[in-house]
Amino acid sequence: MELLNDLDSEELLRKTQELVSQERHIQAELLHYLKEIERRKLFLERGYGSLFDFVAKELGYSESSAYRRIQAMRLLKDLPEVEKQIIDGSLTLTSAAQVQAFFRNEQKNNQTPPRFDKKKVLQAVQNKSSREVEKHLLELNPNNLPIGEKVKQVSDTRVEIRLVIPAELKEKMDQLKLLLSHVHPEMNYQQLIEYLSSKALLQLDPEQTKPRSRATPAPKVKMGVSSKEMGLNSKAERNRYVPEALRRLIFKRDNSCCSYVDPKSKKRCDSKYQIQIDHIVPFALGGQTTESNLRLLCASHNRWRAEKTFGVVRT
Ligand SMILES: [Zn+2]
Repeated sequence: MELLNDLDSEELLRKTQELVSQERHIQAELLHYLKEIERRKLFLERGYGSLFDFVAKELGYSESSAYRRIQAMRLLKDLPEVEKQIIDGSLTLTSAAQVQAFFRNEQKNNQTPPRFDKKKVLQAVQNKSSREVEKHLLELNPNNLPIGEKVKQVSDTRVEIRLVIPAELKEKMDQLKLLLSHVHPEMNYQQLIEYLSSKALLQLDPEQTKPRSRATPAPKVKMGVSSKEMGLNSKAERNRYVPEALRRLIFKRDNSCCSYVDPKSKKRCDSKYQIQIDHIVPFALGGQTTESNLRLLCASHNRWRAEKTFGVVRT
C-alpha cells in the first residue's frame, strides 16, 4: 500500500471510484448467493439454526450487517430490480433493509390487501439517505415503526436494551406494577422484567421445573411434531409421550441446546430457540421413546429433519 504515496491525486480518486463500483457489484452478487443458500437450507446442514446465525457467525459479519444483507436479499427476491439499483448506487443495503422491514411489519399487522405498492415504495426511496427513507416510511404509516429494539453491552455486567413498545404493552406493565405493589412498592421496569423472567423460567425451563409429585403440575411444553401432524392415532400418542423424568434427563444431557452436528465440519448447532425433543429413529417408523433414541433439536432442525425423512414439499 506504500505505493499509494506516489499515486497522483486524480488516479487515486479514479481508483477509489472503481473500488466502490466493484464493492457494489460484489454486494449484489452476494445477495444472490445468500438467496441460493437459503433455498437449499444449507445453513441447517452446516449446523446453524438460522440463516442469520450462518451469515453472522460463519461468514463473520456483524449482527447488523448480517441483518441488512438478509433483508436486502428478501427484497431482491420480490423485486429483481433491486440488483440494478444496488449496483448503480441508487439503493443502499440499509435502505433496502428498511423497505423490507416496513413491508414485513405491514404483513404482520394483517394489512391485506397490502395498502402500499412495494415497487412504488422502492422507487420513492431511491437516492435517499437512511434517515430520509425512515421519514418517508413513517409518513406512509406512522404506526409502522422501524425495528424498535437495540441491545448493547455497556460493561461486563451491564447490557443496555432499548425498546419501542406499543402503548398498550406499557399499560399492561403498569397494571402489573400496581398489582404487585403490596409486595414490591415502587417497582421499576427493570425489577418488573426481572420478576416476570424468574417466574416464566420457573415454569418453562425444563431444568427448573419441579418433579410431578409437587402440588402444581409442570406446564405442558410442546415436544416435537405432534401426533396429529404425523397422522397417528390416539393409542400411538400414549407411547410417544416422553415421561417427565426422561424429558428432564434429555434436556440435562443435551445441555438444553439443539444437538444437531454438521457431519462435515462437526459444528454443533447449540441453538436454544424453540427446543424440542426429537425421536432419532422417527416414532412413525418404529423408533422407541428411550434415552438413546431421543435428542434435542431446535425447531428449524426438527422441521428440516422431518422434511428430509417424510418428504414435505419445499417452498
Ligand atoms: Zn438446530
